[in-house]
Amino acid sequence: MNTAPRRWRTSTVLLIECPWCGPRAETEFSYGGEAGIERPADPYALSDAEWADYLFFRRNPRGAHRELWNHAQGCRRWFGVERDTVSYRIEKSYRLSGAGSARPAAAHIEASEEKRR
Ligand SMILES: [Zn+2]
Repeated sequence: MNTAPRRWRTSTVLLIECPWCGPRAETEFSYGGEAGIERPADPYALSDAEWADYLFFRRNPRGAHRELWNHAQGCRRWFGVERDTVSYRIEKSYRLSGAGSARPAAAHIEASEEKRR
C-alpha cells in the first residue's frame, strides 16, 4: 500500500533514453549536472572569484538545458541530454565521445570507464 501523501503520488514516469540501452525509467539514472562546462586551460591564471565561478556556479535556465546523466543502474555510462526544465521534455540524448560531445572532461570520464572494462 502506498502511504505517501496523495499529492506526491503519481502514475507518470519520466523516461530517459540511454544512447546504449534505450528508454528507461528516470529512477535508473543519476543526474550529473550541467553539460558543457570546460575546465580552464590554465587554472593558476584565474582569480579566486573566477575559480569559484568555475567550481560552484551553474546556469539555472528556464527552458532548454544541456545536462549530463549517468545510467547508474544500467550500463553505468555517462551521456548528454537536452531537456526542457519547464516541461521536462527531453529533446535528445547523445553519447559524449565523438561528434556531439558535450564536454571534454565528460568524454574523459567515459574513456576512463572504458579502460576499466
Ligand atoms: Zn544504459
